[in-house]
Order: sequence, then structure tokens, then C-alpha cells
Amino acid sequence: MSEPLHYVSAGELARRVRSRELGAVEVVRAALDRIAAADPRLGAFLHIDAEGAERRAREIDGLLARRDDPGPLAGVPIALKDVLVTRGLPTTAGSRILAGWIPPYDGTVVERLRAAGAVILGKLNLDEFAMGSSNENSAFHPTRNPWDLERVPGGSSGAAAAAVAAGLCAGAFGTDTGGSIRQPASLCGVVGLKPTYGRVSRWGVIAFASSLDQVGPLARTVADAALLFETIAGFDPRDSTSIAEPVPRLGDALRRGASGLTIGRPRELELPGVDPEVTAAVDAALDVLVHLGATVTDVSLPHAKYSLPAYYLVAPAEASSNLARYDGVRYGLRAGPPGQGLHDMYSRTRGAGFGTEVKRRIMLGTFALRSGYYDAYYRKAQQVRALIARDYERAFAEVDLIATPTSPTAAFRLGEKVQDPMSMYLADVFTLGAPLAGLPGISVPCGFTPEGLPVGLQLIAPPLGEATLFRAAAAYERATDHGARRPPESNLGGAP
Ligand code: GLN
Repeated sequence: MSEPLHYVSAGELARRVRSRELGAVEVVRAALDRIAAADPRLGAFLHIDAEGAERRAREIDGLLARRDDPGPLAGVPIALKDVLVTRGLPTTAGSRILAGWIPPYDGTVVERLRAAGAVILGKLNLDEFAMGSSNENSAFHPTRNPWDLERVPGGSSGAAAAAVAAGLCAGAFGTDTGGSIRQPASLCGVVGLKPTYGRVSRWGVIAFASSLDQVGPLARTVADAALLFETIAGFDPRDSTSIAEPVPRLGDALRRGASGLTIGRPRELELPGVDPEVTAAVDAALDVLVHLGATVTDVSLPHAKYSLPAYYLVAPAEASSNLARYDGVRYGLRAGPPGQGLHDMYSRTRGAGFGTEVKRRIMLGTFALRSGYYDAYYRKAQQVRALIARDYERAFAEVDLIATPTSPTAAFRLGEKVQDPMSMYLADVFTLGAPLAGLPGISVPCGFTPEGLPVGLQLIAPPLGEATLFRAAAAYERATDHGARRPPESNLGGAP
């Protein structure tokens, strides 16, 4: 099995760079060449820092030449969803309102990546402020799915998933508020982890809905996702919601096998809108896990059906508050003629800077928080959220993991859902529960539709149960070969 350098796993790249079999410069150049060849078709990057990446790679090779250890991700080319704040690199959140903003600092995740020897290639496209499921809400351009360029890569971390799937980077980091890591991972055939709420610092992450947002890795293998997660996770005093629990080393979990695990299948999530091809792939995946010694049983999540309305009240409410800071005073864009007063400047800036979906969410959120409506909408949604979390707690008294499809369908066509926000929101039905309840979830490739589009299996664990997710996902991955399939080269500038 000799794959081109741009498809070699992050773990293997770090091993070869650290043993000086391979120069970090060589690895980074291979990634930059791949980006130059394939990204014009995919549109994954908003900003490519070729110069910075090469400079960093030379530093890493220099450290190794002096027998210094650059860290566990030495020379690994990584790309970041453009909500992660990066010192000296433009950070846009996919929005025009942050035009021209160059952050003066690195967020915690970025700091930890740099300290581990990772090389940051650049910033990835997304739905504006992470609001969306297709990348079509980016203020700049859509990103395409490497498996079929007429289809969306999912969202909002769609470009992160596309970039990893197409070998533009060895791994990427996205954020997940209602599914934005897991759903695009599923639609692009890669592994995506949303950690437990509080596992990864949100310091230096542009906020969408603060009680839901989490940063997590997208990778081509389960072991890579574990390696990337280990690097960024753990307590951070700068984030008051950060959990002061040690992050387990995941090596054992990756080797342990699925034997003895009990996996619950929620009856309430057997929904009519799910594509039969998706159901078939997920059923087959559960059969594999049974074959590996796991037990599959029915569980009940009676309030799961309210996840969608609860999420689409809580998330816009928090967004309306978080996005109040973009007013033309502090960051980025300032619109309108001077001398017309502060309010005029605010409204012109926000009018020009935010896109349609962001405005829709600000209005929905402001409405739900209005005095007189607060109790009927926002408080009610929070109460429902508590019931949803309790359902999971009860289910986890009986099972180790919960399994569902990640997304009800494989990748849909560009333009197919843009005029119909409701149908776009419905695509989130399986992924909203975990963030509402603060739980970790992973999506692993589990098959392909007859058209050759990837399908993902979602596993959800109790709080801080990432090791169990990795245990089951790694065992499943070893027993199958879905994750080893690559998108057609003819879509990526190479020979068919
Ligand atoms: N698709 C969901 C939304 O639009 C989730 C987005 C996310 O997780 N950031 O809100």
C-alpha cells in the first residue's frame, strides 16, 4: 500500500519526520502542491499561509537536526476552520463583517497545536459564523464535495472535511455546535469527533452558541483523530467552562476491541426521512460491531424528537447575544458615511456585514429572548434540553454507546436546500442531541451509496467517554475498509 505523501496519515508523518526519514519541509511542500492542484476545484481554503508553513517546517527540521523534540505532531500539515483565532493570519468566521481583521493572538487550540510541532497551512471555509449544514452560507464561496463536485461537503466545517478527504492536509480542526464536525465528516467520508462540552478550550474560538460550541478534529483515520484530540484537549484556565479532568491516553482504547460493549439504538430516531441506503449502511455497521463481540440493543430517547426545535431556539438566542459585538467599533468592517451617528453606523455595518442566514438567526434569537416571550420560548427550550439530557443519562445506565446515522442522507446537491432553511435544519436531526446534552460524538465512515457517496455512522458516549468512542470506532475501522477509499482523482486535478 503506497499512497502519495499527501494521503499518509498524521501519525505516520510525525513518526517519519521525528525519525528524520522525511523532512518536515518535504511533507509541507507535498501538502501545498496538493492544495495548488486541487483547491481551485474544491474551494476549501480562505487563506493559505504557504510562506509561514514552509518557515515553520524548516524550523522543525532544524530542531530535529539539533536533536530537539518538536513534539508529537512534528511536521504534520494541519488546516483550521476559520473560526479559530490565529495570530497574524486573517480570521473571518466566513463573514464579511470581520473583513480585514488580523487577530493579535492564538487561541488555546492553536497554541497547543503549534507547541506540538504541527504546521498550520491556512484557514478553511465555513458557513458564516458556523451557521449551516452545507458551506453554502459562506460569505465568500461554496466548498465542493471531493466525491462529487456538484454536491455539498456538509457544514459548517465542510471545507475541513473536504480538505482532509482530498489530502489537502493531514488533519483539520472544526467546531461543532449542532453537528458541524460530524455531519461534514460523514458527507466527505472522514472521521470527525465532537468532544464532551468543556473538554476542549473555547478560548480564541469565535463564538456561535457558547453553551454548545466545541472544537474537534477531522481526520482520515480513527487513530489520527485520537492523536489530534489528545493534543488539543484538557483544562484551560482561560475558559471557565473548561473541565479540570485529565485527558486519557488513547493508545489502549484504540487497541482494545469492541468485545463486551453494549450499543443502544434509539427507537425514536428511526425516522421516515432517512434514506434507505443510509439505514442499510448503518445496520450493516452494527452487524460488524456485533460480529466483533458488541451487543446491540434498543434504547429509548423519548424527547429526541424535540431536539430540533430546542436547538433552533437555544442556538439562535445565544448567537444573537454573541454576535452583538460586531458593530463596526471593535473589529473588521465599518460601513456608512461618517457623521451620521453611532446607530446609523451600527445598522449599516451589520446590514452590510452579515449574510441572510446570520440575520435570520439574530432575529429568531432576539425574538426568543424578548421579554414576554422568554418564558414561552427560551426558557421552555432550556427545559426541553434538560429532558433530552436526562433521556441520554437514563439510556447510558443501560448501554455504553448510542448509535445512529450521522446524517439522514448522503451529500446533497449544491443549491438543493438553500431556498428552504427548514429542510436544511432537518438534516441536523441526528447530531443535535449530543451538543444539547453536552456529550461526545464521533462520525466514522461506514459505507457508500450506489452513487459512490460516503455514509457515516455516529456513536455517542456519556460525558468524558471519548475513550469508548475511540475504542468502538477503531475496532470497527480495522474490520472494514470504508475509510481507506479515496475520492476520484479526476475531481482533484489528477488523472482519473
Ligand atoms: N447545522 C447546524 C446549524 O446550522 C449546526 C451548525 C454547527 O454545528 N455549527 O446551526
